[in-house]
Amino acid sequence: MRYLSLPIFRTSLLFSVFIFSLTVLLTSCEEVPHTGRGRLILLSESEENKMGVAAYKEVVEKEKRSTDAEAIALVERVGKRLAAAAPDKGFTYEFTVLESPTINAFCLPGGKVAIYTGILPYCKNEAGLAAVMGHEIAHAIARHGGERMSQGMLISGISTGVDAILKEQGVSPTTEKIAMTAFGAGAQIGVLLPYSRKHELEADYLGLLYMAKAGYDPKEAPEFWKRFSALSSNTPNFLSTHPASEDRAAQLTAKQAEAMKLYESSPKYGAGAPVPEKYRTIPTPAPEQKKAEPKKEETKPEQPKKKKRK
Ligand SMILES: [Zn+2]
Repeated sequence: MRYLSLPIFRTSLLFSVFIFSLTVLLTSCEEVPHTGRGRLILLSESEENKMGVAAYKEVVEKEKRSTDAEAIALVERVGKRLAAAAPDKGFTYEFTVLESPTINAFCLPGGKVAIYTGILPYCKNEAGLAAVMGHEIAHAIARHGGERMSQGMLISGISTGVDAILKEQGVSPTTEKIAMTAFGAGAQIGVLLPYSRKHELEADYLGLLYMAKAGYDPKEAPEFWKRFSALSSNTPNFLSTHPASEDRAAQLTAKQAEAMKLYESSPKYGAGAPVPEKYRTIPTPAPEQKKAEPKKEETKPEQPKKKKRK
């Protein structure tokens, strides 16, 4: 090594130590329940939940709550069954039905779930709704919002930003914007920042297991995506533009065997009750969505992995 000048050697050594530390940090800090995927999360669960609860309160207050007793009962029933089937993260679940043609749904950290009536025709029945809600609850349980916020904090070098924001009482519009954006429900405030492809597929997979364990036929999940993929000409807010609905249906089909094992020892509600009659017709053409075009750099799909020969 004597030909190597010392500063370069030192630099490369430091770099290696840095990469090693970062790798350890990234792979050991936090694991997604069930998938075991390691990732770095810089904010605590309680901070994350606090933001979720505050943002939920603001959104729900702004939107029109549904008064349709049948729709509310349906969402509550499916939601409670899913909540009981999902890993216990100490969430205090809340389910709100919002009367709006927006095709959307979200679950904020802490278990705060909102379903827009615009998505009900695509759900068709309780099992379709369970696929949607299971997916959204999985995002919250897997802490995808916290992970994304942490990535943003790392990139911007702000490690105390969240703390500072949370100290503001009464929740500022900034808190709502940050939380809603990070937790994937940003379409309501005109900012669409979709989850990454990895997060979407992980939420699909975990949501499928939750729905099966809750007693809903997991075969209904890919069916929901097939109905949804017919919307390709007018991509709705709900779930981002990637991965394609067809890809999601394919993954959900591939995971059926695992889900069926859970379903077999569940109470087995099958497809459950249909959605209320007034929400059964898929509008044609689907209503225009108020949404910002996803920015290229924010929606970067993962690079396709190079095919490895076994
Ligand atoms: Zn999602």
